[in-house]
Amino acid sequence: MSAVRGAALGELAAFGGAPAVPAGLRTLPWPVVTDADRAAVAGVLDEGPLVSNADGPTAVSALEERWRALCAARHCVATSNGTTALALALFALGIGPGDEVIVPALSFVASGLAPLHQLAVPVFADIDPVSFTLDPAAAAAAVTPRTAALLAVHLHGQPADMDALRAIADRHGLAVIEDAAQAVGALWRGRPVGSLGDAAAFSLQVTKNVPTCGEGGLLTFADEQAAHRAVMARQFGEVMEAGRPRDYISHLLGWNHKMNPVQAAFALSQLDRFADYEAARQHNVADFLARIDGLPGLLPPSAAPGSTHAWHILRFRLDPAAAGLDGVDPAGMRRAVHRLLRAEGVPVSRYQVTTLPRQRVFTDREGFGRGLPWSLGQPPPEPPVPVAEAVVADSLTLQKRHLHPDAGLALRSYAEGFAKVWRHLDVVRNMALRSGR
Ligand SMILES: *Cc1c(COP(=O)(O)O)cnc(C)c1O
Repeated sequence: MSAVRGAALGELAAFGGAPAVPAGLRTLPWPVVTDADRAAVAGVLDEGPLVSNADGPTAVSALEERWRALCAARHCVATSNGTTALALALFALGIGPGDEVIVPALSFVASGLAPLHQLAVPVFADIDPVSFTLDPAAAAAAVTPRTAALLAVHLHGQPADMDALRAIADRHGLAVIEDAAQAVGALWRGRPVGSLGDAAAFSLQVTKNVPTCGEGGLLTFADEQAAHRAVMARQFGEVMEAGRPRDYISHLLGWNHKMNPVQAAFALSQLDRFADYEAARQHNVADFLARIDGLPGLLPPSAAPGSTHAWHILRFRLDPAAAGLDGVDPAGMRRAVHRLLRAEGVPVSRYQVTTLPRQRVFTDREGFGRGLPWSLGQPPPEPPVPVAEAVVADSLTLQKRHLHPDAGLALRSYAEGFAKVWRHLDVVRNMALRSGR
C-alpha cells in the first residue's frame, strides 16, 4: 500500500529506517543557564540577603517590580511557587470555605487543588476544542448561587476568552482569577495576561517559559487591598514595614509562602533574555507549524484571533476520519502515531493522561477528611466534559524542546518526522486497529 504513495515501508524508523531526528536534536537544554545567571545567584550568596522579609530592596522586590511592569499589572507579590500563588490569589480575594470555583476540566492538577487548599470546591467545566481554554458557555452553565470565582487557565500559553468570561463574572458578581502559569508574555487583544483578571498566578518552575533554578511563583492584583492581604498571608499574617522592627503579630491566617532571593535573582537574569527568547520562539514555532500544515487529520495548535500565544506547549489533535482512516478510533490513531513518531526521534508526549474531574483526589473527594470541603455545601452534579475527554484521548504534545531559542533546526527535523509518518497512514491504520483489539 505504501508503495502506491511512493514511500517504502522500510524508510520508517519503526521498521528499520534511519530516524528523521538525529539523537542530538531530541532534547534541548531548558532552562538555558548562562554565566550571567550564575553570577546573579553567586551575588545573592555572597552579599545576601538570603531571606525576602529583610528590610530594604532584595532580589525578590526587584523581581516583583519587573514582573508587575511586564504584565502591565498594578501590584505584584512573589511566592514560593505557582500553586501557592493560586492559593493566595483565592485567599486574598476572600474566596474560602464552601465557595465554588469554576475550573476548566483540562489543566495541571494544581488548578483544581488550589481551591481545595482554601476549603473551596472546584467545579469542573468543559473546554473549547480549539483553544483548550475554559468554554464560556460551559462556565456559565456551571454557575450556582455558591459560585465565587472563575479560574481562567491560559493553557499552553493561549489566553482564555477573557471578554466572555468577564461578562459572565460581572453578571453573577464573581471574581476572575487567571492561572497564567504557562502564559507569561501572552496577550489577549493586545493586553498582557496578568492584567486581565482580579488576580493572576504565575509559575517560575524550571519547565516554564521564564524559569528559575527550582521553584517560584508570582501573583498580580488589580486591587491594592487584595495585594496587601497576599503579602501578609505569605508571611504568617504579619505586617512588615520598612524601617520598623518585626513585631511578630499575626493579624490574619498566614502561611510561609515567601520566595527565596536566590530564585528571584536567577529569574531576573532570565528576564534579561526573555524578549529575545520569546521572539525566537515565535519565529521557530511559526516556521514549524507552517511545515506540518496540511497533513490530513493532523490539527496543529493555533493562536486564537486577536491573541498572542506564548507557545508553552504545542498540542496536536488527531482526526482519523479526516486522515482517511475509517474504522480507527482517535485514541488508537494517537497510540500509533505516538509510537511511530517516537521511533523517528520526535519527542512527543502526552500532557495530562486524564481530565481533572477524573483525578482520584476529586472523584474520591480526598480533601481534608470528613467530606471536607464538599460537605460544606451541596456541590452541583458534575456535568460531563466531552470535549476535554476527547482532547485527552486524541492528542499529543511537544513540550520544552521548542522553548530553546536555537530550536529551529530541531523543529525542522521534527516536521520531517511528521511528514514521514504521514506518508505511511496505512501503517498507522494497521497499528491502530491491532492495538485496539
Ligand atoms: C505549573 C502549573 C501550575 C503550578 O505551578 P508550580 O510552580 O509548579 O506550583 C499551575 N497551573 C498550571 C496550568 C501550571 O502549568
